[in-house]
Amino acid sequence: MPRDPLLDTIAQTPPATLVDPFQRTIRYLRVSVTDRCDFRCVYCMSEDMTFLPKAEILTLEELDRICRVFVRLGVEKLRLTGGEPLVRRNILWLVESLGQQVQSGALHDLTLTTNGSRLAIHADALAACGVRRVNVSLDTLRPDRFKAITRWGDYGKVMEGVRTAKAAGLAVKINCVALKGVNDDEFHDLVAWCGEQGFDLTFIEVMPLGDIDGDGGGQARVDQFLPLSVVRAELAKRWTLTESDHRTGGPARYVTVAETGQRLGFITPLTHNFCESCNRVRLTCTGTLFMCLGQEDAADLRTPLRRNPNDDGPLIDAIREAITRKPKGHDFVISRRRRDPAVSRHMSVTGG
Ligand code: SAM
Ligand code: SF4
Repeated sequence: MPRDPLLDTIAQTPPATLVDPFQRTIRYLRVSVTDRCDFRCVYCMSEDMTFLPKAEILTLEELDRICRVFVRLGVEKLRLTGGEPLVRRNILWLVESLGQQVQSGALHDLTLTTNGSRLAIHADALAACGVRRVNVSLDTLRPDRFKAITRWGDYGKVMEGVRTAKAAGLAVKINCVALKGVNDDEFHDLVAWCGEQGFDLTFIEVMPLGDIDGDGGGQARVDQFLPLSVVRAELAKRWTLTESDHRTGGPARYVTVAETGQRLGFITPLTHNFCESCNRVRLTCTGTLFMCLGQEDAADLRTPLRRNPNDDGPLIDAIREAITRKPKGHDFVISRRRRDPAVSRHMSVTGG
């Protein structure tokens, strides 16, 4: 009997995209591929961290499978982060596999956030896999200060990584966490340096994620917290900042620096003004899906993934159910009265 053409149409129709209860379509997945890191940045980790046991961590094949399912469900942009994504063994295998999704046109953007320590080794391979942009975290241009902030980092290696990435044709964006009394005398220098290098620059406000100093994470962050409104006002004294309508669906707002032509971003996660357009969810290396960076609610994708090695149906159902729970917004607070972190997990778990 001839096959009913309707059945073929149904089989070829991609599953419906992910839309949350507030009519936000999920287009962006950030994946923390490891919680480990070769740095111990003071605002991110304590020096003495306990990392996840290896058995709990998804294999690269499992991460690849989840990412591909998300792409089938309409995700167009994927960012690998961590911890430090480039310390995960064999990570280029995953980048290469996801790069095929870029080549096929299913994925529009495959990017990476890195501390730059291993970029000199991997930049050429990343570019060859289809990565076109990388975000590199750099809070200072002074080697001694870099050591004080990252505890274990090597400034020279990061600079070499940045140079190699640029030479490989990758667009580099610098992320800088604004820290009161630590790097607040360098913001003009960073804008000037990024202008010379042709890099965009984004300043980030310190977020209350995870215990960093053994006191519950409260006091150190209150001391370090610097509102970006202050940073912007200071920068406006020397640079001509023109409003830009560039949007990523995230907490960043952008201006253009007229003197350098580069974009300058301000990530102010403590204000609620970005949640209405939030298009992203975050996957940890254990297969836990966080629907909001600033909330504890999460969904377990590892169980449906491992129980059904040959059937993506249960995984898709679990993702859809999770998206119905995406909250309207977050509840970050940094205050002098509150000493515990608003969210107990570290940024390196969920991925920044
Ligand atoms: N290791 C990579 C790196 O440093 O770029 C990727 C992961 S890191 C968690 C991602 C970003 O989060 C970095 O730009 C880092 O500066 C930022 N970050 C970490 N902890 C933070 C915190 N408590 N508040 C604000 N930003 C933070
Ligand atoms: Fe590592 Fe990035 Fe956290 Fe620094 S910010 S400790 S480099 S994960």
